[in-house]
Amino acid sequence: MHFVTMEIQGERIIGLTDEAQNYVLDLHRAHREIEDGTTWPSSLLEAIEQGESFIETVSRLRDWVFKQRDSESYFYPMGEVRLYAPIPRPKKNIFCVGKNYRDHVLEMGSEDDLPEHIMIFTKATTSVVGPEASIPSHEDLTDQLDYEGELAIVIGKSGKGITIEAAMDHVFGYTIVNDITARDMQKRHKQFFLGKSLDGTCPMGPAIVHRSFVENPQSLMVETKVNGEIRQRASTELMMFSIPEIIAIISKGMTLEPGDIIATGTPAGVGKGFVPPRFLKKGDVVEVSVEKIGTLRNVID
Ligand code: MG
Repeated sequence: MHFVTMEIQGERIIGLTDEAQNYVLDLHRAHREIEDGTTWPSSLLEAIEQGESFIETVSRLRDWVFKQRDSESYFYPMGEVRLYAPIPRPKKNIFCVGKNYRDHVLEMGSEDDLPEHIMIFTKATTSVVGPEASIPSHEDLTDQLDYEGELAIVIGKSGKGITIEAAMDHVFGYTIVNDITARDMQKRHKQFFLGKSLDGTCPMGPAIVHRSFVENPQSLMVETKVNGEIRQRASTELMMFSIPEIIAIISKGMTLEPGDIIATGTPAGVGKGFVPPRFLKKGDVVEVSVEKIGTLRNVID
């Protein structure tokens, strides 16, 4: 199941889309008409908090829609709806793993920079924007704006001290994050937060794909294109800290909650890794694709 947050007739609602992401089902209308007494969540975040009961409700609604004589009237072409980030304003900062692909560490530095322990930083919730949203170039603050295509985990079940064995039970699904970074600010301020949290620098989406659809999240191809040219291409099997390890390490002393988002790190091929560097400029189109999850497209404005 692929869930999106979309706007129809001025209302921001949850939609269900197909794998090709060509059509979106108006679950809100289906739920209103089926009148089964269940409470319908007002946002995807609230739906994730409902857990498995939400997934069961959606299955029931989808089956019901397909039995209706006018079933096609419940679907909209994807191009006709406005999409937001699946969770437009997360409750917490977005967790990000730094240095999780060996070749990316090497392009940014040397063998000495390979992490012994996982590196975690966060991006402010206000940096989140949706698919097709423009990313401000922030020309007054940076001339080194860079892209980082990443698979992101969406937590479904609360937990602290989660073991590696139990970690996948805490995952609701997956989405895509482009961890846009102002490299000069990242370096100047020593700590990553400012350079990683400018408004509009956390494009996310287009969908959250339920974990049941992703058999092995550790073998997905991640690809980033700038103006159609492939800059990053690597499988998630190359992560140095796997998804279960990331969840176990973060949750050791900190409670992870439904709706928490963890970007799992970026492979080699970022703009700073080129000689000379190839940073983003106004008008550039950045597309991050993750196999089975979709394509997140944004334009630098
Ligand atoms: Mg990153």
